[in-house]
Amino acid sequence: MSLTESELRAKIAQEMPGVRADLERLVRIPGIAFEGFDHSHVERSAEAVAELLRGCGLDTQIVRHGGQPAVIGRKPAPPGAPTVLLYAHHDVQPAGDPALWASDPFEPVERDGRLYGRGAADDKAGVMAHVAALRAFGDQLPVGVVVFVEGEEEYGSDSLDAIIQAHLDELRSDVIVIADSGNWDIGRPALTTSLRGLVNLFVEVKVLKGAVHSGMFGGAVPDALMTLSRLLSTLHDDDGEVAVGGLVGREGASVDYPEDRFRHESGLLDGVGLIGRGTITDRIWTKPSISVLGIDAPRTLEAANALQASAKAKISVRVAPGDDPKSVYAAVKSHLEKNVPWGAAVEVTLESDGDPCVIDATGPGFEAARAAFRSAWDGVEPVDMGVGGSIPFIATFQELFPGATILVTGVEDPHSAAHGPNESLHLGEFERVCLAEVLLLKNVAETLTK
Ligand SMILES: [Zn+2]
Repeated sequence: MSLTESELRAKIAQEMPGVRADLERLVRIPGIAFEGFDHSHVERSAEAVAELLRGCGLDTQIVRHGGQPAVIGRKPAPPGAPTVLLYAHHDVQPAGDPALWASDPFEPVERDGRLYGRGAADDKAGVMAHVAALRAFGDQLPVGVVVFVEGEEEYGSDSLDAIIQAHLDELRSDVIVIADSGNWDIGRPALTTSLRGLVNLFVEVKVLKGAVHSGMFGGAVPDALMTLSRLLSTLHDDDGEVAVGGLVGREGASVDYPEDRFRHESGLLDGVGLIGRGTITDRIWTKPSISVLGIDAPRTLEAANALQASAKAKISVRVAPGDDPKSVYAAVKSHLEKNVPWGAAVEVTLESDGDPCVIDATGPGFEAARAAFRSAWDGVEPVDMGVGGSIPFIATFQELFPGATILVTGVEDPHSAAHGPNESLHLGEFERVCLAEVLLLKNVAETLTK
């Protein structure tokens, strides 16, 4: 006997207080996989997640491959039924400057219908959406599940490939739900169907053997900071459109992102113009972007009257779907080498890269998901959205499980401030996310069971 939609709605409503309490428990564990943080908290966080999965009757193990611990919990499929992999991550970003938070980042607190805390959205609520769905079904789960909760997503997922390779058979599934993205707006669900990739690189210019007196040599000798600034300014044209040749980008994102909403959500100051060309969604989803993240230079209060010998910048390139990080890196490197002014020495080095991805959002798995979203949001049609950021491991899943339907969902909304101070989760939307996941599993069982 399978549970009906109205029974499942009632179950989710009934489970939410417990789900919320367990979410708060997870938020209190500052599990940060970054270098220099106490990794015993990541261990505790993995233990806590494993405990939650065991509580749902899953056969659960903590696994690692040189990096931080991930958790895998499994429940076999009923005969003929498909298996669904439910992904989330239990590690979080560092909290940053505590002074920028209105309350303790690791002490969850509700204000105006939102739960505040580091990881309250990204991605501990993703973990709890999976747990909520499992609890709602109890022992009447109509599909097989593999819950896979990673422990170092925010720190680059370095050992993820090795973990997946080592557990390939246990992770094999027909549908993969990656709950690490978000919805289009409060009240408007979305499936994420394209993501940009990433190339982070360093560029260093050298003009002198050592720093020299700015009065004695300034005027005839270029300084490194000015040289670097001029070089960086060649990366964009006067409109702020990327001016590096050879990068792929296209226009034609399907959703309208009104400029006033975008300005508000980004916190752009009045009078500051947008950069680039095309619609806003083109600029942030389907075209490349180049930003300067940091510069090594003397601090202004300590700067001597001296011409600096060398200067270094960290540059971040977001790679458009359809482009290749390796060729993007080559193009940007050659641009920087060619455009360095005054014959300065220039050295470009790669920090890290990740693939972009486009998901073909058609087929029965997507229909099952869209129908579930429509029901959970009372008839509101879900949108297909792009994301300007990167989840490089989606490409890994695509490569290793080519037959699987990959659904990128999530709990975030435009006000979640994931990675920033005052990260939060909209509790009303969170309940819809949990309900949508339950209905998704039900729909997948009905469509894909042989
Ligand atoms: Zn995340």
